[in-house]
Amino acid sequence: MTDCVFCRIAAGEIPADIVAGDDEFVAFKDLHPVAPEHVLVIPRRHVASLDRIGDLGEPAAGRLLAFVALVAEKAGVTEGGYRVIVNTGRNAGQEVQHVHVHILGGEPLGPMRCTRGSGS
Ligand code: AMP
Ligand code: ZN
Repeated sequence: MTDCVFCRIAAGEIPADIVAGDDEFVAFKDLHPVAPEHVLVIPRRHVASLDRIGDLGEPAAGRLLAFVALVAEKAGVTEGGYRVIVNTGRNAGQEVQHVHVHILGGEPLGPMRCTRGSGS
């Protein structure tokens, strides 16, 4: 059994508030939302970070973005607008080592980068 929490969500082994899914991707609500709408999109297949997205093959990476847009529509944030974030590696504070796309929306989100990390 994998100890990757997002693989386990994709496999239905641990609960999540799933909002969409197909044979390649799953979308679920972030456990600690930082916006009124905060959804994560993951590929079912384990890929550690955006650095390894090529492992899915380029067409799959394109389909991932198309799926993100679909989930945004479903979450009702398309009209008001939304932000997509893919934290990658240490400086971005990536916590879960399974590539995931944050979709944030539901209110004005402010400047794209508004704080500096404590390490800088
Ligand atoms: P990141 O810093 O980009 O790696 O973000 C990881 C995100 O995963 C955080 O926003 C967490 O709140 C979220 N997260 C961690 N575990 C879970 C879980 N079991 N269900 C939903 N979201 C989770
Ligand atoms: Zn995984």
